[in-house]
Parts: sequence; structure tokens; C-alpha cells
Amino acid sequence: MTVFEDLAESRRQLGEAVAAARRIVFFTGAGMSTESGIPDFRSPGGYWSTRKPIMFDDFCTSREARREDWRRRYDLADQLAATEPNAGHLEIARMVAGGRASHVITQNIDGLHQRAGTPPEKVIELHGNATYATCLSCGLHHGLDDLRPQFEATGEPPVCRSCGGLVKAAVISFGQAMPSGPMAAAHEASLAADLFVVLGSSLVVYPAAGFPLLAKRNGATLVIVNREATPLDAEADLVLEGEIGEVLRGISAG
Ligand code: NAD
Repeated sequence: MTVFEDLAESRRQLGEAVAAARRIVFFTGAGMSTESGIPDFRSPGGYWSTRKPIMFDDFCTSREARREDWRRRYDLADQLAATEPNAGHLEIARMVAGGRASHVITQNIDGLHQRAGTPPEKVIELHGNATYATCLSCGLHHGLDDLRPQFEATGEPPVCRSCGGLVKAAVISFGQAMPSGPMAAAHEASLAADLFVVLGSSLVVYPAAGFPLLAKRNGATLVIVNREATPLDAEADLVLEGEIGEVLRGISAG
């Protein structure tokens, strides 16, 4: 492991790693979106400093938990509507468009990689997406805007217009099973990568944090870009301590 804190050196190191790579995978966490104004989870002032997680079982069994979950969904939707992808999202989208990066594996639920121009089929969402909802019984897709007037008028959590099942934002809650399709896609992408770049993740949430290790143990170069140390730093080839937007700036032009 080599750690760099100096910005110019970090950019040089990342540039060299990118230039030597044929198949790059980016792995992003909440830190990817802080430069867009969305707080991460674990930094001071982060999401969990003000809210208690709603467990999946509670969502399924308690109307009050569902109400609270929906209130939070619309708070987040309002926040996302006022948010733009940042320079880092755009650099990644250019790397994917240029064929340098095969996929973005993300823990984020904000849809900002897609809004930055990364094609949806290249974005592997491990924890779902907060910009739409699905029925937990039949899987029908529901738009958040379509459900909002009735929720706000009645305070009743939405149910499926087709089967009457519980409708939930398409995110993976604590206690909910990981989505099998994205897990399999992330596994395959990690094994195929020769450069795996972690951006803005504390790397404490499993199974997501297993993918950098999988890629590394399969022979990929592992780079971690984060403001602070992570538990996987010792496994990485390069640890670049800095702000993602600054470290990534211009990387797609190299
Ligand atoms: P985390 O909050 O645990 O860790 C974020 C890390 O990024 C921290 O170590 C922090 O120091 C670092 N960081 C923050 N801003 C940075 C920046 N500009 N440059 C460099 N480093 C920066 O987040 P996580 O590891 O993704 O895990 C927590 C869970 O949070 C995930 O499951 C994710 O689903 C969820 N989450 C998503 C969003 C979102 O979609 N934007 C926001 C909050 C939480």
C-alpha cells in the first residue's frame, strides 16, 4: 500500500494507473455525491446522525414505519430534484463513454451517475434507487410523483394499483435481501476488471465492500480515493487521500 495526500501526486498516480489499465471498474459510495450537496451517511452531520434506520421488517409490519419511510422518501426526492451530478460523476461518464471503464458499481441510490450520462446498463446499483418505487408483491414500477398527492392528502402509505401490495421506494433497506441481479453483475464486473477504483466509500458496509477485495484478489490493481482512511487501505495498491472531484479532474482526457 502506498498512501498519497498531495493532490498533484495523487492525480499523477491515478493517471498512470488509468493509462496502464484496459478494463476499469469504478466503485462509488456516498462520498461520490457529497460534492453535489448530498450528505454521506457516516461523516459528522451525515444522514444517520439525525435519523434512525427503518428496518425492512418494520416497513412490512408497521403502518407508522411505512409513513415515516415515505416522508423521508419525499424529503430525499425534493433534495435530489435540487441536485446536479458533480465533476466526478461527469469524469466517470466520459471514461465509460470512451470505453475505458466497463461499469460503475455504486452503493448510491441517487441516480446521479445516470444523470451524468453513464448509460443505465453500465451502472450496477447494489442498494437500489430512490427515484422510483416498486410493489413488494408483484414488482410493478410506480413513479414517486404519481403516488405523492394521495400520500400527502391522506397520510396513508401507498399500495399497488394493480395488486394492492405494499409499495416501497426501490432501495434496499436494512434487513432486506440484496438484489440478486446487481450482485451477480457486480461479481462478474469485479472479476473482469484490471483496475478497480473505489471512490468515497467508508468500505464498512458488506457485502458491497467485498467487491474491491474480490477484484484485488483476482489480480486487479486496487485504488482507493477517500478523504479518510478505510479498513481496506492495507489491501490497496494506492490510497489517495483527497476530494474525489479534485483527484479525478481531467482523468478522462489522459
Ligand atoms: P459512508 O457515508 O459510510 O462513507 C462515505 C465516505 O466518503 C467517508 O469515508 C467520507 O470520508 C468519504 N467522503 C465524503 N465526501 C468525500 C469527497 N468529496 N471526497 C472523498 N471522500 C469523501 O458511505 P458508503 O460507504 O457509501 O456506505 C453507506 C451507505 O450509504 C451506502 O449503502 C449507500 O447506499 C448509502 N448512501 C447513499 C447516498 C447517496 O445515494 N448519495 C447518500 C448517503 C448514504
